[in-house]
Amino acid sequence: MTDHVVIVGGGITGLAAAWEALEQGHRVTVHEAGPRFGGLISTAPVDVPGPARLMVDEGADAFLARVPDALELCEQLGLGDQLCEPAVGRAMVHTADGLRWFPERSVLGVPTDVDALASTGLLSEAGLDRVRAEASISQGPPTADVAVGPFLRERFGDELVDRVVGPLVGGISAGDIDQMSLFATTPQIAAAALEGGPLSESLARRTAATPPGPVFNGLRGGTGSLVSALVDQLTRRGGDLRPGSALGREDIGGLRADLLVLTTPAAVTSSLVAQVSPAAAEALASIETASVALTTLAYPRAAFDWPSDASGYLVPRSSGLFLTAVSWGSTKWPHWGDGSHAIVRASTGHRGDDRFVSMDDDAVVDAIRADLELTCGLVAEPDGARVSRWIDGFHQYDVGHLDLVQRIQRDLDVDTAGRIRLAGASLHGVGIPACIRSGRSAVLGGPTVP
Ligand SMILES: Cc1cc2nc3c(=O)[nH]c(=O)nc-3n(C[C@H](O)[C@H](O)[C@H](O)COP(=O)(O)OP(=O)(O)OC[C@H]3O[C@@H](n4cnc5c(N)ncnc54)[C@H](O)[C@@H]3O)c2cc1C
Repeated sequence: MTDHVVIVGGGITGLAAAWEALEQGHRVTVHEAGPRFGGLISTAPVDVPGPARLMVDEGADAFLARVPDALELCEQLGLGDQLCEPAVGRAMVHTADGLRWFPERSVLGVPTDVDALASTGLLSEAGLDRVRAEASISQGPPTADVAVGPFLRERFGDELVDRVVGPLVGGISAGDIDQMSLFATTPQIAAAALEGGPLSESLARRTAATPPGPVFNGLRGGTGSLVSALVDQLTRRGGDLRPGSALGREDIGGLRADLLVLTTPAAVTSSLVAQVSPAAAEALASIETASVALTTLAYPRAAFDWPSDASGYLVPRSSGLFLTAVSWGSTKWPHWGDGSHAIVRASTGHRGDDRFVSMDDDAVVDAIRADLELTCGLVAEPDGARVSRWIDGFHQYDVGHLDLVQRIQRDLDVDTAGRIRLAGASLHGVGIPACIRSGRSAVLGGPTVP
């Protein structure tokens, strides 16, 4: 049995790994470079005049319920009664003619019912005909990984990809749908495609077989409350949690640990393993990232006619706008408001567009507000604004990502006799449930399949 597990990185992956290590009876140390734990997860106040303290997520505000690892961990931590579902789940899409509904009965935007897609008005008649033609286009199952965009363009045409699938799937990890790996980033589409035959039909069959239930869950105290609960309970159970303790490559060789779990961003991990496994380090360094900024705006509630039936809207890349998505925060999560304020969260930045990086916060807020006016007519003055910058926050899973991950871990296993395992969003899935699974699996030594 492993005795001392040392974890590098105190984001959700590292904390989940620590939780599993304690569950297995091991001694645990977590080294976190920053002053706080949670990494890309943070729930913090948005300042507004007066006594109100509006606690709003700076990044992730929900996690998939279909992948059960986050729900299970919440239950284990005693947070079950804090779980909540978005009050509204349906989003819209920005078009030159105004906002239109995202199609119902679709999987990541791929329609299982073309009439439902047609009713949104998002596609031209020619675009719809192209989608309808999918059933008659003979396409065998993919024999190797491909990019999501080209794969779907071939089957459904460009309009569906550029106006519907791209804004959603590209938005999940700020990626470029024409580079993203089908197998690593859209496993549900890949699994349906591997059945062969028309993709929309096999997605429809799979959807019909999926038990009903919420798609997403959040936490009333914000996703940051998952981090706080983990930190509290890990500390109480004897875990040695060390914030402000960045490890460098020179530290790795000298660490006295039976198992070392690295949950750091790929570039950091590459540097950490450079001396012990140059091949793994080189492969890790090849993983690209994208940066995003999330601007949270707190408006006087009476300032706008807030939609009550939409969770927000996506902005296709082809629009050239600064804005990539808007969430009607307090419509989606009623507990975010304080009665007198409404919360809006707006995203900017994606692979190939990091304009915000060189702008100061005021300039980012101005650019976001200009796009809000253009896309939904919101001109009111906010009472409070906050810009949360996530530089290199999203790792990009390009075609061949799953093979790359296997190769990296195999090289490390050979070079370190299995003493170092990798986990986290840089490799095994960006969603919180995938990170939790990856952290726990790294300790158990099992597979960490996205
Ligand atoms: C804006 C945004 C919105 C998101 N929304 C959602 C969502 O709604 N739902 C969802 O499921 N997911 C969402 N995600 C993704 C999810 O939040 C992340 O993928 C996940 O939190 C990553 O966790 P991690 O522990 O793997 O990595 P990180 O959180 O990046 O943790 C890595 C940690 O390593 C530390 N570190 C770095 N270098 C060193 C070093 N040398 N020594 C020690 N420590 C070091 C870092 O400080 C950091 O704390 C979102 C992400 C972003 C950026």
